[in-house]
Amino acid sequence: MRLSELSTGEKGIIVKIMGRGAFRKRIIEMGFIRGKEVKVIQNAPLKDPIHYRIMGYDVSLRRQDAELIEVVSAAEFAAEQKDSALADKPATAYIAPSDDELKEMAYNKGKTINVALVGNPNCGKTSLFNFASGAHEHVGNYSGVTVDAKEGVFKQNGYTFRIVDLPGTYSLSAYTPEELYVRKHLNENEQPDIVINVIDASNLERNLYLTTQLIDMDVQMVIALNMYDELEKAGNKFDYESLARMIGCPIVPTISKTGFGIEELFNRVIKVYEEEDPVVRHIHINYGDILEKGIANIKQSIHKVDNNMPKSISRRYLSIKLLENDKEIESQIRNFTDGEQIIQERNRNAAQIENLLQEDCETAFTDARYGFISGALRETFEQNKIKEATSTQIIDLIVTHKVLGFPIFLLFMWIMFEATFRLGDYPMQGIEWIVEQIGNLVRANMPEGPLKDLLVDGIIGGVGGVIVFLPNILILYAFISFMEDSGYMARAAFIMDKIMHKMGLHGKSFIPLVMGFGCNVPAVMATRTIESRNSRMITMLVTPLMSCSARLPLYVLITGALFPKNASFVLLSLYVTGVVLAVILARVFKRAFFNEEDVPFVMELPPYRMPTGKSILLHMWEKGKQYLHKMGGIILVASIIIWFLGYFPRETARSADFERQIATIENSQLGQNEKADQISQIEHQMRMDHQENSYIGRIGQLISPIMKPLGFNWKISVSLLSGMAAKEIVVSTLSVLYTGSDDSEQALSERLLQEKNPDGTDVFTPLVGLSLMLFVLLYFPCIATVTAIVHESHSWKWGAFVIVYTCCLAWVVSFLVYQIGNLIAG
Ligand code: GDP
Ligand code: MG
Repeated sequence: MRLSELSTGEKGIIVKIMGRGAFRKRIIEMGFIRGKEVKVIQNAPLKDPIHYRIMGYDVSLRRQDAELIEVVSAAEFAAEQKDSALADKPATAYIAPSDDELKEMAYNKGKTINVALVGNPNCGKTSLFNFASGAHEHVGNYSGVTVDAKEGVFKQNGYTFRIVDLPGTYSLSAYTPEELYVRKHLNENEQPDIVINVIDASNLERNLYLTTQLIDMDVQMVIALNMYDELEKAGNKFDYESLARMIGCPIVPTISKTGFGIEELFNRVIKVYEEEDPVVRHIHINYGDILEKGIANIKQSIHKVDNNMPKSISRRYLSIKLLENDKEIESQIRNFTDGEQIIQERNRNAAQIENLLQEDCETAFTDARYGFISGALRETFEQNKIKEATSTQIIDLIVTHKVLGFPIFLLFMWIMFEATFRLGDYPMQGIEWIVEQIGNLVRANMPEGPLKDLLVDGIIGGVGGVIVFLPNILILYAFISFMEDSGYMARAAFIMDKIMHKMGLHGKSFIPLVMGFGCNVPAVMATRTIESRNSRMITMLVTPLMSCSARLPLYVLITGALFPKNASFVLLSLYVTGVVLAVILARVFKRAFFNEEDVPFVMELPPYRMPTGKSILLHMWEKGKQYLHKMGGIILVASIIIWFLGYFPRETARSADFERQIATIENSQLGQNEKADQISQIEHQMRMDHQENSYIGRIGQLISPIMKPLGFNWKISVSLLSGMAAKEIVVSTLSVLYTGSDDSEQALSERLLQEKNPDGTDVFTPLVGLSLMLFVLLYFPCIATVTAIVHESHSWKWGAFVIVYTCCLAWVVSFLVYQIGNLIAG
């Protein structure tokens, strides 16, 4: 009987917990485990929740949750005794059972396992059923033989199996009566403990489609790889053990005609039932960014209105089915209070997905499932004879080719970077010009004073210095989203898999790392798709070494000023340096922190698809918006703060001194030109003097002893400090600090080149530039990235660790480059 049926004061012993996924886990964690005693504190017929006492403390469970817990009670014990004694004694003669007797009954009841056979038509379910249960159901070599469920019982290893042979289905949509029947059987209250998914080994691709849906349903499952004889006869090689580990579900080869493997199959069922099977792990089929986002949104709306949703069904499954426009689930959902809200959320998300992918959700899910399957089979299955190839397979033959794959991939990368920097240059010049015009306009039309200085030097200088890089960022994102949406990124991950394994990572880590070139924050978030925690953590820790677009402004500035002839080469070297260091550190981290063996998982190979212009534009726009947001927010604030720290304190006594000197020259006998020269020199000194004594100058001087060995003066040090908020700010700070020797609208790169040390040497030598770019590449990931790492790793310690290691690494690398460079030059 079910826990909900016990009345107040009654005791029961738990037999088993039904239900799926998170619900089941939570119930078990609360202490509802087989053999434990539960007492009903209060259960009135219409009361919800019901109060229980278990393991010494009180819990309340909703009625519908309690319905999923099977128990035995003293009354049930007595009834059974009576049955077995055939009523030759009066009923009153039955005394209440002792606790031990009751426990034993629960234990024995728990040794009954309900098994359902699910599979495509004609895959051998009925043969398997007959062999296992000794029944003689009709076996036919055509579909539709089994129209309703046949039940059989047999014993093995002390367990009783109640096994149900369900009709064959290709899928679990609600289209055919068979499909609905199977679904109902799997989801309703009498749900089986274990599903045996029978698959036909001679037609894996089609058979595994149903498996992906069972995975979505989150059922406890064992796969019978039936017709194993056919597989061997065809000479195909199938590493099913590998596949089992990838999908977290045991696979047992069987030949149900002869009975081969069936005993082993049921032994695995016992293991899974007792939660002892090492392979079992619930995986999520990754449906790709766009669909996953929809699933997450609907799941959330289900959680929000979660009041009387059936707990026996996985939320993820419900969300997927809703997006697939499943009429049956839809009408179920509508029946719940506030179900309409969920449907509305579904409609919104479905429309958005269809708009982005330019195809209906159902097709998108089907494609993604086949992508999962082909990814899984590509790694584990070797066909003896080549089948007729689809266009996706033909492209894959070239793109994921052992030798050709890499040059093609490198070519793509090269095109991407080339376009980002070359194409981006034209709009960049345009924006630069506009910013300049705005600056001039303000300069010409505002009265002198701190407000004008703030506007021109602080805000327009700071924000303007960074906004010019918007085109580069948009172009980079256009490429990244094209690669993602077309399906090429998945292939890139696939061919990188071997190399990534050498780094101690997985092929899937590759996508976040490439995204890191755009922005580290979404890259860190994208590590979610990596199922293995170890790989995910390592990927997260090295992502900050991927040179994000925020570092680009500084590179462009410095290479433009100091390495105009080989800018591309220097840029490329910086990116490569980041990647090489990431490789080395990934190995180090793997050794040091994440040394355990990884679980393998499937890398989806979705079919190729021409991405819609809309989806790429939307991607670009989203990134552009984020960037502009950063401009309007953190960069604006930082620019103002930096300007403020640099502008104050106003030391009137000192400036009066300089002004007196200027006045002396004005009144002297010198010629016009000489006068102007000397005055501008004094003005420059005045500015230098002011900057050195400003707040920011003092901070910079404080840290400059640490930065000096890297070749940085206090202004550079201050820029680096302020760049911790966001790396673009390094440039905007330099721009504010190096306001130039006169009020002209000289480009920042020219201003930097004119800058002299007190001893007359250039501040920005190529060596300093190199050291600076390396430092910016490596040091302190911006605040947003650190926040993302803390969020994703669920631990601030990893955030702190990343800060410390990147800063140390940056210092050491810049130190070595600057000092060794000086030795060579000197
Ligand atoms: P169902 O539709 O899934 O119930 O499949 P059946 O049990 O009715 O079997 C369909 C056909 O496949 C029958 O002709 C069986 O004899 C045959 N069959 C079942 N299992 C195997 C197997 O392991 N190997 C081979 N070669 N044939 C099998
Ligand atoms: Mg059958």
